[in-house]
Amino acid sequence: MSVLAIVEQRMAGEVLTAAKQFGPDVKAYSIDLPYTADAYTAAVEELIRKENPQLVVFGHTYQTRDYAPKLAARFGRVLIGDVIAGKPPVFVRQMFQGKFNADVRLVGDGPHFVSIQAGAWRAEGSPQAEAFSPSPTTSRQVAEAPFREAARAVDLTAADIIVSVGRGIKEKENIPVVEALAQALGAELAASRPICDAGWLPMDRQVGSSGQTVSPKVYIAVGISGAIQHLVGMKGAKTVVAINKDPDAPIFEVAHYGIVGDLFEVVPALVEEIRKTK
Ligand SMILES: Cc1cc2nc3c(=O)[nH]c(=O)nc-3n(C[C@H](O)[C@H](O)[C@H](O)COP(=O)(O)OP(=O)(O)OC[C@H]3O[C@@H](n4cnc5c(N)ncnc54)[C@H](O)[C@@H]3O)c2cc1C
Repeated sequence: MSVLAIVEQRMAGEVLTAAKQFGPDVKAYSIDLPYTADAYTAAVEELIRKENPQLVVFGHTYQTRDYAPKLAARFGRVLIGDVIAGKPPVFVRQMFQGKFNADVRLVGDGPHFVSIQAGAWRAEGSPQAEAFSPSPTTSRQVAEAPFREAARAVDLTAADIIVSVGRGIKEKENIPVVEALAQALGAELAASRPICDAGWLPMDRQVGSSGQTVSPKVYIAVGISGAIQHLVGMKGAKTVVAINKDPDAPIFEVAHYGIVGDLFEVVPALVEEIRKTK
């Protein structure tokens, strides 16, 4: 199968590794333009018409999600997004925020469009892609200076121990339950994305594909299910401890130690035991 890999700086290595597994005949390009959805759609459309690939592969980035569905529609196709495994003709993609995995089969002639999730393929070697300068087109959009994140107040990457809280905590008023564990251990407090999205903890405490990537000595995940977007941010931890009331929660697949139980009972008991040792 002929594969066209569209490479951004983010996830470049992962996209190339995946593309090589999808087909032996891979051409990799980066788009040599400031990003706008209009400009990228036109540029990649031009590339596809030039290279005539059967499969187009992207990283599942914010940028891809912005323009690739429109691009796919131009070829009468859909974007198979959030792909975490598989190869042509069957890809595995996440649905309902990672609650279910679906097998999706390619049917008919290409080009087909696939975007791979961060962390699903491991980057190998140094990524190389040709910069593509498209023919000039009229665009309705004008690129502004790229958004720069504000400096982070909290550097979780330097922490030896992290206690991370997820939606199992149920409401903001309960955050002190896990905060007490972090304090008792001298740990940094972190969170899954829904906790930061809800404003229960600041954004710079988020761990995962759209947050910080951490590799502490100990990572304690409290009431966190273990969605792939969270796992990619913490799977470098030396020791992972998971506290979750669901014995089938995916977090237990990466945990070295697991406690199946209600965090509102387990965490205060742990805090009490830790305090006794001081
Ligand atoms: C593009 C994209 C980027 C994303 N980026 C990130 C990211 O950077 N970081 C991130 O974390 N997520 C990210 N997500 C979201 C991710 O897919 C998950 O939705 C999220 O990680 C789930 O958070 P959670 O585990 O806290 O919540 P849930 O999945 O709702 O899990 C809550 C867990 O708590 C357990 N629980 C409930 N009550 C109790 C109790 N009393 N005691 C013990 N356990 C209990 C449940 O069994 C469950 O396993 C992203 C999603 C997308 C689409």
